[in-house]
Amino acid sequence: MMKKRFEPDFDSTQALLAHQLERLKWTVRHAYEGSPFYRERLDRNGVNPDSITSLDDLKRFPFTTADDLREGYPFPLRAVDFEKIVRIHSSSGTTGLRKNLCYTQKDVDDWVHFFARAYETAGVTDIDRVQIAVGYGVWTAGIGFQSACEKVGAMALPVGPGNVDMQCQFLVDLQPTVLCCTASMGLLMAEEVHRRGLADKISLKKIIYGSERSSVSMRQKISELLGGAELFDITGLTELYGPGAGIECPLHDCIHYWADYYILEILDPDTLSPLPDGEWGEMVLTTLYKEASPLIRYRTRDITRIIPGPCDCGTILPRHSRIRGRTDDMFKFRGVNIYPSHIDSILSKISGIGSEYQIHLSRDASERGVMRLIVEQAENEKGKKPSDLEEAVKYQIKKQLLVTPGVEIVNYGSLPRSERKSQRVFDTRIQDSIV
Ligand code: ZN
Repeated sequence: MMKKRFEPDFDSTQALLAHQLERLKWTVRHAYEGSPFYRERLDRNGVNPDSITSLDDLKRFPFTTADDLREGYPFPLRAVDFEKIVRIHSSSGTTGLRKNLCYTQKDVDDWVHFFARAYETAGVTDIDRVQIAVGYGVWTAGIGFQSACEKVGAMALPVGPGNVDMQCQFLVDLQPTVLCCTASMGLLMAEEVHRRGLADKISLKKIIYGSERSSVSMRQKISELLGGAELFDITGLTELYGPGAGIECPLHDCIHYWADYYILEILDPDTLSPLPDGEWGEMVLTTLYKEASPLIRYRTRDITRIIPGPCDCGTILPRHSRIRGRTDDMFKFRGVNIYPSHIDSILSKISGIGSEYQIHLSRDASERGVMRLIVEQAENEKGKKPSDLEEAVKYQIKKQLLVTPGVEIVNYGSLPRSERKSQRVFDTRIQDSIV
């Protein structure tokens, strides 16, 4: 078997843990010395770089949250001088403020290296042709998938998202063997290939998909419509460089994650105490190399669990389950992270709209995700026609969230009230099991 180029050099879990401890000491010192935010936070909690003498000591450290990113806007968690920063990426956050993350050249290089490992784990080599159908721009997706593809030596076809006609033309004319996309886009492409009768004319062997949850049946359907293509769920988040932080191996028994680049803890989301391997809880991350925006015990709100024991594929890199859900009410729609609080703040600025609304997420006849907003008119609002309000809501949501919902305006008082927190999000997109 060919030597893997992007695997770590360790041959034992013990060596991996020793590496983690050494790098953890570096991260804590680097963050403490470079970032006023971390210095203040650590001092306030009575810990400092000398507090780390074993991996267990990390448990005494305070958490970092999405709120910290928001409060530190526009350069949160920054731990290096501006002249060392070569790039900014951004993802959507609560209440409309973006989560900006800084990258040094080393951060970019490290990301490309471990993302290349993700491709390598999925068996992608320099003879592959990789059609990249994810978003380009401030998002981490496009440039991440592309840079790592080129690092592996494969041929990148950077088509970007949407544009189904061009996607299909490339699939036939350029014969890509790998498609990178969101799960929804994967399903859309699988259906288009089927509908246009192209299944025999294309060469797709692998689908690398990420960024949103997908069910077991959805995976099966994509694979079937694409002539048995193999699916690989890839993980990652902008706070942790971007996508590529873990992926399924060819045995498809959950996600291998790059424990040489970050420490993953699973905590009870209510008590925040550590959970034993195998139990579901919140994923909390500490980076081991990140220079510009290091993470110390960052609460991702993603729910997963550690899979105990080694994988039969032979790597020592540990595994976690596919992401099962969230501890907050964020949801993903067409690859965009959306918080109800953000929709709330958009609606509150449209005159004639009341405070009550519901977000319904479902799938249409062709299994495509659909978002429908039901919004109350303001009390005693007689001046505005519902159709005008509907257009205003659609326009503002599209402008600010880059997704287009269906909108239904209802009379004041028609949505249920609750003394406790009202349920805002009704998500029926996934009906069967995820893992
Ligand atoms: Zn494996």
